[in-house]
This record gives sequence, C-alpha cells and structure tokens, in this order.
Amino acid sequence: MKFYRPLRAVKAITFDLDDTLYDNYPVIRKTTAESHAALQAYHPALREFTPRDYQALRDELLACEPEIYHDVSEWRRRSVELALLNAGLPAQEATAGADEIMNVFHHWRSQVEMPEETHQTLKALGAEVPLVAITNGNAHPEQLGIAEYFQFALRAGPDGRAKPYQDMYHLAMQRLGVAPEQILHVGDDLTTDVAGALRCGMQACWINLHGGNLMQISDARLLPHVEISRLASLTSLL
Ligand SMILES: [Mg+2]
Repeated sequence: MKFYRPLRAVKAITFDLDDTLYDNYPVIRKTTAESHAALQAYHPALREFTPRDYQALRDELLACEPEIYHDVSEWRRRSVELALLNAGLPAQEATAGADEIMNVFHHWRSQVEMPEETHQTLKALGAEVPLVAITNGNAHPEQLGIAEYFQFALRAGPDGRAKPYQDMYHLAMQRLGVAPEQILHVGDDLTTDVAGALRCGMQACWINLHGGNLMQISDARLLPHVEISRLASLTSLL
C-alpha cells in the first residue's frame, strides 16, 4: 500500500466493478465472441459479418449520436439492430433480434469468477460503512452475486454520463448524504476512476492489480490518495 496524499476519515466507499472487483478480461473476450457468433447465426446474410464490420457500425452510430457513448448496453443493442436492418430484416424483427442477441450477451457478461477475497472484503467493509457500485460498463451486481454488499449501484447511461464525468459521483454523494471528502472511490482506471473522483472532491484509491508503475503511466495525471495491489488491503484503512 502506498500513500500519495493524507487520507481523511472514510464514511462511505464507492467501487468501480470491472477489473477492480474481478478480472474482466476473460469475461469480455468470451462474451464478445459468443454474442458475435449469435449475430452471425441469426440471419444467413450475416454469416460473413466480421468484428470489423460490427466496429464500423458502432463508429457510425457514435458519429451520428455522440451521447450514446455513455450507455454501452444501448450502444451495443443499437449496433446489433443496425446490422440486422442492413441485412434486410424489417424494423420490428430487427428489434426483436437485437433483444435476443443482447440476452446472449448479458448471459455471458455475468459469468464472472468472483474471487472469494472480493466477497470477504466487501462483507467486512460493508459492516463498517455504506458501499456503492459505480460502473461505466454493463455488469449488474445482482447477476454477479455481490448486490447484497451495496446500498445501491449506478450505471452510466441510466444514471448519467460515464466516468470521469461527475454525474454518477454527485448522485452517489447525494443519495448517501455524505460529503465528498469523506467518500473513498476505488477503481483500476486512472482517468475515469481516480481523476474523475478527485475532480469532484472525493478521495481516490487506485487498485493496481497488474504491477503498473504510477510514475510511468502516461494517463496518470492526478495522484490518488492511496494505491493498493489487492482489494483486501482496504480493510486496514477503516
Ligand atoms: Mg474498471
């Protein structure tokens, strides 16, 4: 554990989900492959549809509707729907198909191997202070089996713009009724988690699970209060 700024009393903790509470890399790889296969299988015209084709549709949507960036699930659903429309399906069928493929996506998305350390740590911390989940992604704490530890969860899209925008940080403070400087936000991303939380006056903890060096990472612009290399270290901060 490394301290870069003096840490004040912590009255609540907010958590990023992906790559903070579990390793999301294998999950996303598998999920992406399975949902792409489901899309290819959905209609004969899409049998040769490549991930690159799919990316082109995502880029096209983003260019037309920049705000869709903040809702990754809706962005994905609309991209799949567009692929089905381009394949010649009528609008209603394209929507139904997109929903079906999104069900495949969400099924694989929730197949996370949750470390026992995460359960133990959240349980111990939750007995001391309220915990909140704040994610830019489409993971749902209920589907991951960790909802019981959190007072509530906020997701980019339905709950505001993605981190590092301050929408969800402010919403968390309001709903918790705790001053920003008494909240510790924990996350793996220096730009969205650390810089985003610091800019709204919260304390920040960077979880460095892959042995990164803060002094050599190009997007490290603001120092967190504390750096940890495993989640369980948090229990010693309260
Ligand atoms: Mg993350």
